[in-house]
Amino acid sequence: AHLDQISAVDDTIGSFLHVDGAKALAQAATVDEDRAAGKALGPLAGVPIGLKDVFVTRGTPTTAGSKILEGWTPPYESTVSARALAAGLVVLGKTNMDEFAMGSTNENSAYKPVRNPWNHDRIPGGSSGGSASAVASFETPLSLGTDTGGSVRQPAAMCGLVGMKPTYGSNSRYGVIAFSSSLDTPGPFGRTVMDTALLHEAISGYDPCDSTSIDAPVPGVVAAARKGANGDLTGVRVGVVRELGGDGYETGVMSAFEAGVQTLRDLGATVTEVSCPHFSYSLPAYYLIAPSEASSNLARFDSVRYGLRVGDDGEASLEEVMSMTREAGFGAEVKRRIILGAYALSSGYYDAYYGQAQKVRTLLARDFTAAFEQVDVLVSPTTPTVAYPIGAKVNDPLAMYQGDLCTLPASLVGVPAMSLPVGLAEDPADSGGTPLPVGLQIMAPTMADDRCYRVGAALE
Ligand code: GLN
Repeated sequence: AHLDQISAVDDTIGSFLHVDGAKALAQAATVDEDRAAGKALGPLAGVPIGLKDVFVTRGTPTTAGSKILEGWTPPYESTVSARALAAGLVVLGKTNMDEFAMGSTNENSAYKPVRNPWNHDRIPGGSSGGSASAVASFETPLSLGTDTGGSVRQPAAMCGLVGMKPTYGSNSRYGVIAFSSSLDTPGPFGRTVMDTALLHEAISGYDPCDSTSIDAPVPGVVAAARKGANGDLTGVRVGVVRELGGDGYETGVMSAFEAGVQTLRDLGATVTEVSCPHFSYSLPAYYLIAPSEASSNLARFDSVRYGLRVGDDGEASLEEVMSMTREAGFGAEVKRRIILGAYALSSGYYDAYYGQAQKVRTLLARDFTAAFEQVDVLVSPTTPTVAYPIGAKVNDPLAMYQGDLCTLPASLVGVPAMSLPVGLAEDPADSGGTPLPVGLQIMAPTMADDRCYRVGAALE
């Protein structure tokens, strides 16, 4: 049924870069055989899933949304997708994304844009736009994305889904094509908090293949979602982040968010306003740190090791071949970030830019520590606006970056954060148009991902 839905809608929506129906059906048949043989099956056995094309998958093409990896078929499997397979999930294919996960709209995919299933003229959010649109358009019930600065939470908000960025280090980065290694975090999308919790639990946990993986048991997020579903938040302290709201936020977004906060009060939570004074520095800090790490990570695409090789006519030097390959293989946003990052890391500028941005990270961590002494979770809108029209910000990267305001603090500090639907709002520039989804973000302390699920399940 899901493969049929993909055939019916994906020419329009563009969620998938690669679908392997035969492989999916064969995998599903294995689950059926196991069931017939009386084997114990987990709750997700036989459930379809889409994987962002940033996860390397053995024998299935993987591009990270880039022309530089076109035609590359990995010889190994990422840890999180291997765990999804081990749980019996059936992989339908690889989902569309901004090239190397750089973007907030999915317009930076080298292959095709993604259309928001709620309104086809609008962006789905990014960079995991295809993973979000695939779930929102009923092509798959579950998907996996990666969140470096908001790339699961932001498209989840814009497509009306639940999206989770787990604690940094609790989900393995092994086999995840690197963007910014100190931030990259695989995370699940679902239509409900419980669906998302089941996938979260199936893929999380220590992995010796990732040197930043946390060697500690992951909190029971399924149990937390079950507990939250009783709708009782008595004793839970919720902090509304003063710096994430108000000016620059659409009024429809603010009213849906405030209605969500009122529901939390009605469910018994104590709600107070909390100030996190350094949150406004997240944006400049992130847009130095992420491009710096990207400029280093993307050095491996050198025309020798993987994918594209341009201009190798026997006359050109190795350096010329590398240069021609990178010129042809990388898109404009990726080049912008490589240049920015290489500049920020260069001698004489390192302390002024990268070093300074790392200090901001420490200040942000202190803001979170102080806040979590007063409250159990922090909440904010997930994005300042609803999904905007495709093309609206394509020539103005700074305007696009502004959309990441609310998601960046949790990324820079590594704490867990969820986005879940909290209502619909009109785009103020399109009054009378289709109302679009609004997301509410719930942030919790490191390794307290369960709190996001408890509060999320109560609010849903
Ligand atoms: N929108 C942010 C960026 O462009 C975040 C991307 C992400 O989380 N992968 O870098």
